Amino acid sequence: MGEANMSENPRYSIVAPIYNEEGNIQKLYDRITLVMDSTGEEWELVTVNDGSRDRSFEMLSELAAKDSRIKVVNFARNFGHQLAVTAGIDHASGDAVVVIDADLQDPPELILEMIERWKAGYEVVYAIRQERKGESWFKLFTAKLFYRMIYRITDVDIPLDTGDFRLIDRNVADVLRTMREHNRFIRGMTSWAGFKQTGVSYVREAREWGETKYPLRKMVRFAMDAVTGFSYFPLQIMVYVSFILGLLAVIAIPVIGILRVILGYEFLGGQVTTILLLLIVSAFQLFFLFIMGQYIARIYDEVRQRPLYIVASRSNLDTSPGQRASGVPQSEADQDVEG
Ligand code: UDP
Ligand code: MG
Repeated sequence: MGEANMSENPRYSIVAPIYNEEGNIQKLYDRITLVMDSTGEEWELVTVNDGSRDRSFEMLSELAAKDSRIKVVNFARNFGHQLAVTAGIDHASGDAVVVIDADLQDPPELILEMIERWKAGYEVVYAIRQERKGESWFKLFTAKLFYRMIYRITDVDIPLDTGDFRLIDRNVADVLRTMREHNRFIRGMTSWAGFKQTGVSYVREAREWGETKYPLRKMVRFAMDAVTGFSYFPLQIMVYVSFILGLLAVIAIPVIGILRVILGYEFLGGQVTTILLLLIVSAFQLFFLFIMGQYIARIYDEVRQRPLYIVASRSNLDTSPGQRASGVPQSEADQDVEG
């Protein structure tokens, strides 16, 4: 199998975000190579080193020096999984782009099935996790809850139990490249884009090596991005709470008045009830202020118009993101920052 000519667009781009994955990189490369070579078509592996603190970057650079099909986008610091995937899609030039985790929890062999569906005319082929191995019950439970909640309260139909492991057509990748929001929930963004979508199921394996990079704190943030990015529901539930509290007041005023006439003025008197009510109502108010704050902070993120990520260096890639210029303004691309 000849190596892809760099000036030509390969048929397939595999995008892998990488954060401290030194123990997985060689295996990832081996398995991707085996699977993709079996297609008999040109492919590239676009890796994004998301500020790894281990030897990941050195290992990727070594692979890139030996094999020009391996592209490396090296971030100036850790920007997070979703931005690493974004940069990978920005720099991918294939007719179909496959996003895959570097820890081999997503079996590369499934890509062949995705390609089949793509050739049958589907523009998004997502992978549905039938079973997840090697995860704590807490992660399984919260993930299940999360996907069902997102499904209920968001305005787009995000398929249940899917991650970012998916194949997207060039058309969809180009749409994603025009969506420059800062707090990203990429699986929601692909659903939002529409196109002909389908899913293939698989069993999600345990991590090959290393630990999850999604501690609870990051999971909560991720969930918030998903909700705020695709739903106004949290802003709108305030109105129901206000109705309920208002209704309670309307009922309580005459009822308490009458009861006081009957039972005497000590009924419900004293500071304790006042203090309790004050605490309950303030808790509601502060909670809703927090929710509003979440939306406002994200508005602020957009208004500042900072680049989404900063690239320190690239290997086997032109300086501009993607050989097929679209979506990202060239002038911006030249400054090595992508907004
Ligand atoms: N990742 C990344 N930046 C981060 C965290 C994770 O690029 O800040 C990558 C990581 O190397 C892996 C993928 O995103 O390829 C998924 O991360 P992980 O396996 O830790 O998530 P989990 O499978 O536990 O949800
Ligand atoms: Mg993983």
